[in-house]
This record gives sequence, C-alpha cells and structure tokens, in this order.
Amino acid sequence: MKRIGILTSGGDSPGMNAAIRAVVRKAIYHDIEVFGIYYGYHGLMNGNIEKLEIGSVGDIIHRGGTMLYSARSEEFKTSEGQKKGIEQLEKFGIDALVVIGGDGSFQGAKKLAEHGYPTIGVPGTIDNDIPGTDFTIGFDTALNTVIDAVDKIRDTATSHERTYVIEVMGRDAGDIALWAGLADGAETILIPEEGYSMEDVLARLKRGHDRGKKHSIIMVAEGVGSGVEIAKEIQERANLETRVTVLGHIQRGGSPTASDRVLASRLGAKAVELLLNGEAGKMVGIEKNELVSHDIDEALAREHVVDKDMYNLSKELSI
Ligand code: ATP
Repeated sequence: MKRIGILTSGGDSPGMNAAIRAVVRKAIYHDIEVFGIYYGYHGLMNGNIEKLEIGSVGDIIHRGGTMLYSARSEEFKTSEGQKKGIEQLEKFGIDALVVIGGDGSFQGAKKLAEHGYPTIGVPGTIDNDIPGTDFTIGFDTALNTVIDAVDKIRDTATSHERTYVIEVMGRDAGDIALWAGLADGAETILIPEEGYSMEDVLARLKRGHDRGKKHSIIMVAEGVGSGVEIAKEIQERANLETRVTVLGHIQRGGSPTASDRVLASRLGAKAVELLLNGEAGKMVGIEKNELVSHDIDEALAREHVVDKDMYNLSKELSI
C-alpha cells in the first residue's frame, strides 16, 4: 500500500479534524502518501482530491468542523455513483480509503468494500448511535455544549420558578439526552428507546412542585418528538409556566474536548494500522476503553442500544 485517501461525510462533529490529523500523520510516519477528498462522497465522485502533507493538518487539532468539509450525496447511494467514486480513486492511484462519519457514511463505506475497494470506517457523529463502539467522535463535546447551555438556563429557571423543556439532538438515539440529562440533574429525561407517558411526566412535576422545587428541567431527545409540543401540553395540563429551548446546531460546533481529541487520535491511527495489516471493510471503535475493529457489515446489522442502567439511575437520582 502506497497511497490512502481520507474523507469526512454526513453531519460534521467536533474532533473530526483531530481524526484527519491522526490518519495523515500516522500514514506519513509509515511512508504512505495521503490524499484528502473534499466534500465527502460528492467530492469523491467529482475528483475533488488533493495530496496532504504533514503541514496540511497543522493547527487543526483544536478546531471543530472538518477541514475536508462534508456533504450529502444521493447519487453515491447508487451503484453507478459508487463505481464513479472508485474510478476517481484509481485515477489518483489511491489504494485504500478511510471514511470518517456516521451510520449513513458507513453504509457508503460498506458499498465500496462490497465493490472490492479497501475501506475503513471511523465513527464520527455527535449522536453516539453507531453500533460497535461505546463512543463516537464528537459526542463528548456535544454533551459539554449541552450542559453548558442547561447550566445557564437553570439559573434563570430558578429565578422565575419555571419549568424548562430542552430539546437536544441525537436523531433516533437518546444518548445525548440521557448523558446530558444525568450530568445536569434533569428531573425528567425523554428518550426514544424508552418511550414515555405524559401522566408520569406530570406526576413527577407535581411531586417536585409540592416539595417546593424552584425549577424543573425536562430533557427531550429529538427522536421523541417536538420539544415545543411537549412544553405546550405540560403548560396546558399542569398549569405551570413552561418554556422551551431547542438547542439545535450549536451542539455540532465548538472546539473538541480533550476526550474527543484523544479518542479521534486513537481511532484515526487505528484505522491506518488496520490498512497496514491488509484489513478492509472494517470499522474502528472503542469498547471498554480498548480499541477494537468489526466488520462494517456486522456492526451495521446490530442495533444501537442505550445504557438501560444509566436510564434507571437517572430516574432514581431525580426523585
Ligand atoms: P450523521 O448521522 O452524523 O448525520 P451520517 O453519516 O449518518 O452522519 P448521512 O447523511 O446518513 O449522514 O450519510 C452521509 C452520506 O453517506 C450520504 O449523503 C450518502 O452519500 C452516503 N450514504 C448513505 N447511505 C448510503 C447507502 N445506503 N449506500 C451508499 N451510500 C450511502
């Protein structure tokens, strides 16, 4: 193997740059050339490809976003699109590809591997929804962004004795809501994996109110539904002044935390190691603090599960 390519795809996440840096430096350390592919699979099909040097990835380890930019591409979901991508890789003499992204991006990587092109996936998404790894790059930073915002909201919630509904991201996964909710001492956490009953939410609110609580925080994962609608129902049925904050894309930005930088560096380097060992069609991950790899196929066939013990703990601690 003489040359590898690298791209970032789907939603960006803080720490992707640290992962790019790790792939580039680790590969160059082993005398492998690295080519950056800009704008994800879209750029791949269009040959938006440039050689990266050691210095190309300088001064990015602390930056959010991705220096290779990202994109979504419907065309790449077709077999023709994938072959077009492989033609470009062959034109540049690139022997293997590292894809940093979420589960959609991994589907693309899996297709390339099925066409016989060596590809490795690195999990980068704030949602923490990829099976085969305990944590994805960007999750920890997103959590810290959420708790920073909720700490501020808590101050004003206490002053005005209000109920606050906070809607956080996560697509179909409740990890951001659960972890941030636990870290923030939210009274109620609503995640898609567990479902909820409004009666239960109202009963918990009433219990807190009756014992003199000054505020209540209800953390809602976007996968459960609209925070605005949930807040409206609470206001009407509990007759409590209720406000809602939808945190939105603020959760995707910002300088990555130390934890995300370290994770990204380890996973990026591990991806290059797999390629050096002649492996392909795999994803890298971290499980029980050990670096692991799985067949992308096998990982994608699994379902992402949320930590049930943590969910139960959050209920016990917010009585
Ligand atoms: P995030 O979850 O953080 O938003 P993601 O990687 O899941 O990230 P997607 O938009 O689902 O984001 O996927 C990114 C890109 O991967 C798509 O635009 C498409 O080009 C490619 N992709 C997704 N699904 C497939 C598929 N089944 N086959 C081939 N390519 C795919």
